[in-house]
Amino acid sequence: MTKDLELTNEQIERYSRHILLPEVGGIGQKKLIKSKVLVVGAGGLGSIILLYLAAAGIGTIGIIDDDKVELSNLQRQIIHKTEGLGTYKVDSALKAIKSINPSVKVIKYRDRLAVSNAENIISNYNIIADGSDNFETRFLVNDVCYFLKKTLVTAAILRFEGQISTFNFKDKLSSCYRCLWPNSPAKGTIPTCAQAGVFGALAGNIGSMQSIEIIKEILQIGKSLNNFLVLYDALSCEMRKVKLTKDPSCRLCGEKPTIVYKKIIVDKT
Ligand SMILES: [Zn+2]
Repeated sequence: MTKDLELTNEQIERYSRHILLPEVGGIGQKKLIKSKVLVVGAGGLGSIILLYLAAAGIGTIGIIDDDKVELSNLQRQIIHKTEGLGTYKVDSALKAIKSINPSVKVIKYRDRLAVSNAENIISNYNIIADGSDNFETRFLVNDVCYFLKKTLVTAAILRFEGQISTFNFKDKLSSCYRCLWPNSPAKGTIPTCAQAGVFGALAGNIGSMQSIEIIKEILQIGKSLNNFLVLYDALSCEMRKVKLTKDPSCRLCGEKPTIVYKKIIVDKT
C-alpha cells in the first residue's frame, strides 16, 4: 500500500516507526516530506528543532542565523560540535542535518532576520519555528507571520523555565505574540541567557515540544497548541497550559491596529 504513495524502499524503512502510527501512516509521512519549515535561530531551541525535523523527513528546512559557533554554545546547542567552533552555525547545522538525513533540502540564510528580508524569506515556508533569543526578532517574526497568514510555533527559555505557543494566523480569531507581550520589555529589564544562564537540557525539552507541535500542525493531528501558552518549570517539573485570548487593543491584530502592512511593515506609534 505504501508503494502507491511513491515512497522509496529507503524511505519506507527510514520512516517505518512513523508509518506504523495510524495518525501518521504513509500519507502523513508524505505530507512531512512535502512540507517546508523555517527555523529562526540555530541556537539552543533551533538545534533541537532542526535535528528532529531532519530526522522526521521534513522535505525543506530553512535556517536563518548569522552567528558563529562559540565554546559557550555547546552546553545546549547540540547540533554544533567542538570541531565546528568558529564556523557559521548555518554551516555547522547543515553538516549535522545531512549526516542524519541526506535527502532533506536545506536552505541557509547566513543573515539576521530583519524588516528588509523577513517577508521574502518567510513567504517560502508553511510553518515558522521561532527559536530566536531576543524580543525584537520575536516581534518581527510574529508580525510577518500574521500578515502572511502563516503558522508560527514560538518558544523561549531562560534559567530553568521555558514557554511555548502556537499562533495559526489563518484563523482570524487567533491571538498573537503581541497580545501576550503588548510592548517590547525595556532593554535590560529581562536578562538574556548570556546574562542569567540557562539549564542546557531545558533547550532539549522545549525544542522537542516545538518539533512535536510543528509536526502535529503539518499532519493536522491531536489538539493544536494554537492560542495556548505552555509554561514549563524544570526545577519543579511542573507544566501549565494557559488559554490565550485575542486582545482587542493589540497593536497588530486588534480592532484598531497601529502596525500596518504597506509592502514593508510600518509601526505608526
Ligand atoms: Zn495580537
